[in-house]
Amino acid sequence: MVVTRFAPSPTGYLHIGGLRTALYSYLWAKRMGGKFLLRIEDTDLKRNSVEAAQAIEEAFAWCGLEYDGEIVYQSSRMEIYQEHIQKLLEMGKAYYCYMSKEELDALREDQAARKERPKYDGRYRDFTGTPPKGVAPVVRIKAPLEGEICFHDGVKGDMRFQAADILDDFIIARSDGSPTYNFVVAVDDALMGVNHVIRGDDHLSNTPKQIIIYQAFGFDLPKFFHVPMILNASGKKLSKRDGATDVMDYPKMGYLKEAILNFLVRLGWSHGDQEIFSMEEMIALFDPNTINASPSAFNAQKLDWLNAHYIKTLPCEVLVEQLKRFDLDLSGHPQKALLLDSLRERAKTLEELALGARTILEAPTSYDEKALNKFITPETMELLEAFCDRIAAGGLLVHEADFEAVAKELLEERGLGLGKLAQPIRISLVGSSVSPSVFQVIATLGKDEVIDRMKTFITFYKRS
Ligand code: GLU
Repeated sequence: MVVTRFAPSPTGYLHIGGLRTALYSYLWAKRMGGKFLLRIEDTDLKRNSVEAAQAIEEAFAWCGLEYDGEIVYQSSRMEIYQEHIQKLLEMGKAYYCYMSKEELDALREDQAARKERPKYDGRYRDFTGTPPKGVAPVVRIKAPLEGEICFHDGVKGDMRFQAADILDDFIIARSDGSPTYNFVVAVDDALMGVNHVIRGDDHLSNTPKQIIIYQAFGFDLPKFFHVPMILNASGKKLSKRDGATDVMDYPKMGYLKEAILNFLVRLGWSHGDQEIFSMEEMIALFDPNTINASPSAFNAQKLDWLNAHYIKTLPCEVLVEQLKRFDLDLSGHPQKALLLDSLRERAKTLEELALGARTILEAPTSYDEKALNKFITPETMELLEAFCDRIAAGGLLVHEADFEAVAKELLEERGLGLGKLAQPIRISLVGSSVSPSVFQVIATLGKDEVIDRMKTFITFYKRS
């Protein structure tokens, strides 16, 4: 069974690039009928915080990527790491190193003088003597001294690292006993049964070290997929300066999770020239073996385009739910579907949609001067009044077509076009000459409210 995981370090918020690797891991597990696990890598007490872990969980909840089982916190697994360090010591695959800080500094200086790569020289590797007093030892892994660490990366292809060049007996436990990063990642992935590791290619240089840990324990190696970074429009690594990188900024700005996930799946992966992917399609089609080996650039226009697409096409209830973030609860509104339909063609974000809805739902408190000057004359006001009277006398009027018929009849009798009536109606209902189709607005508000607003406007006009 395929088991994937997302393993963020809680140092801040969930980065948009992190969400992409999480999505890839999620999709692959779902496609293969496997499991997707979430592990919070919170062993670095100086850099990690509970708030940051909560921020990650909140972002996960927002985008709806469900993980299997409980979240695994590395901070709660210290005993497991200690046991595993002991195991390696007992097997002779790791050893205590008593080198003092001064000795280590001296070694580094020598190496620097000889223009060599800083590297531990293995002096305690086969040490059998009496340990020096007063030095709390670190634990080092016995890394291979020669040969190659090879693995096939599902994105990058065959990877080879010369043991002698890049590896030394790196530390797996510090002098205070705490385990180090690469050690815990490898132990956790192995014990959690993770067999497909999909992560950012900034971790590529960690992989040979983690492989050494796997090999020391005799654990099976997972398949690795190192995903290239997301770049900005000018080809540099995406940073805060390029706009929002915190996943949770996107819902605040009115983006739908459907748009974000669709956008992210395409950042580095494709299926022909298809741009729109439902979650079902992503699950059916995504394959980490076809992730792009070259980095892709964040394209804000593409995201806006996708967001507009989902605003246009998602079911009304989904939008109603999402609009609650913008203090707009339409759940009890009898004409919510009509209201959203009248606005969704033009809105790029939920924020715009909410704004448009408010403009219609809230009675105007003033009327736009320019619109008044341009469209309001004694003649158009008389027409508006006549329309208002006919609606009032018109019995049960509910649908757009009902109101449209009343307008048509009136305009035909007078030999006038809709233009004369539409703008005065708009101004009376929303305070300006900008709104979706007048009859949609009228049907959304309902007969009584429309009459109220028109009468208020007529009174305002007569007073001024
Ligand atoms: N904790 C690492 C990070 O947040 C990821 C580790 C991994 O995926 O192996 O960058």
